[in-house]
Amino acid sequence: MKAEIITIGDEILIGQTVDTNSAYIAGSLNSLGIEITGISTIPDDAGRIINALNEASIRSELIILTGGLGPTSDDITKKTLCEYFSTSLIRDSEVLANISELLGRRKVSLNNNNLAQADVPQSCTVLMNRVGTAPGMWFMKDGTITVSLPGVPYEMKYLIDHQVIPRLKNMSIGSTILHRNIMTYGLPEAHLAEMLTDFEATLPSFVKLAYLPSSGVIKLRLTARGIDVNSSAVQLESEVARLRTIIADVIYAEGEVTLEQEVGRLLSVNNLTMTTAESCTGGNIARMITSVPGSSRWYVGSVVAYSNDIKTGLLGVDKEIIRLYGAVSSECVKAMAEGARLITGASFSIAVTGIAGPDGGTAEKPVGTVWIATSDKNGTLAESFLFGSDRQVNIRRFSLAALNMLRKQIIRH
Ligand code: ATP
Ligand code: MG
Repeated sequence: MKAEIITIGDEILIGQTVDTNSAYIAGSLNSLGIEITGISTIPDDAGRIINALNEASIRSELIILTGGLGPTSDDITKKTLCEYFSTSLIRDSEVLANISELLGRRKVSLNNNNLAQADVPQSCTVLMNRVGTAPGMWFMKDGTITVSLPGVPYEMKYLIDHQVIPRLKNMSIGSTILHRNIMTYGLPEAHLAEMLTDFEATLPSFVKLAYLPSSGVIKLRLTARGIDVNSSAVQLESEVARLRTIIADVIYAEGEVTLEQEVGRLLSVNNLTMTTAESCTGGNIARMITSVPGSSRWYVGSVVAYSNDIKTGLLGVDKEIIRLYGAVSSECVKAMAEGARLITGASFSIAVTGIAGPDGGTAEKPVGTVWIATSDKNGTLAESFLFGSDRQVNIRRFSLAALNMLRKQIIRH
């Protein structure tokens, strides 16, 4: 099966909104083995919508549209689909009940625009949207499936995950595609690729390796394409096992797992807790950790010790340490980590102090310098790293380096 994605919206064409919907839909369809033949964006214009549908239906059996389903006059997709499929709108009582319930929960009363959202083209199958007021629509005509979804990203995702993908799976389209994700941290892409040259060269032709880097973390994705699920799965498992032996040191998890999730998992299974004392990352590590559901089980809290007064006053860092070695030093970061652990009683602590930039660097401690310490009852380790000159990138890199140090310390614990 071939598919085409069309996003509708003037705001995308003027650069106000980045089209993230297409990427999400393409990824979901691809994992079912559906080939994407095109992605396009068009304005909220009836003529353009009809042209786009005509053209896409020549190339593909599945067309997914997003956008223009809202309650306002600039949202014309539904009306245009009625014209295209020669059908008319009728009020759907289940959609109306859903809208009433959603608005009722928010204590908003129903107006005519809301009522109009319960009108759907007679010839479509309604895809119930439990997270928003605009329903999705599924049309089948002349061997082509056309699906229209709201533009709001989380509503689109909800409908793709709960309505579109399950329906497509039932139709058993495409060939088998199996993916395995292996998460790595600590080696730049070029070095990783060098270590994996032989591995890649000896992969069977139906297994492919992809490098998917994102600021410090590199996801390796092995994809097997075949008809038989069982033999593809066996082959893939043996390739993953081979990969594990070559780069064991840098693999921190398998599957779509972030470093903060992995740290949380390790702490949680061992009934351990942690705290953070952050200077230059300003609470970013705390934010990353608390974005993981359930983090209250392992995370007790943080001190954002930005000024030296907080480092000494709250964390108990000796003023002499800062006077002699400076705040960005092994001595200071160790004292911060130990202080944080003492005042919170957590099993582990992370402390970070560095120069995120763009100003504040010196010849001895240039922008991008960071000292990180991790501490537990057996001792405190400090390490320094040198990253780049971009403040935001540095904050992210410092945070990842800290989480990875802690991960290793928990494993040794
Ligand atoms: P609504 O019910 O909110 O009006 P809608 O189906 O009419 O939904 P739009 O009005 O087109 O959708 O867009 C709603 C919101 O979703 C806007 O904030 C828009 O910027 C965002 N959005 C629309 N299309 C995309 C897209 N392709 N990628 C990312 N965001 C999008
Ligand atoms: Mg809208």
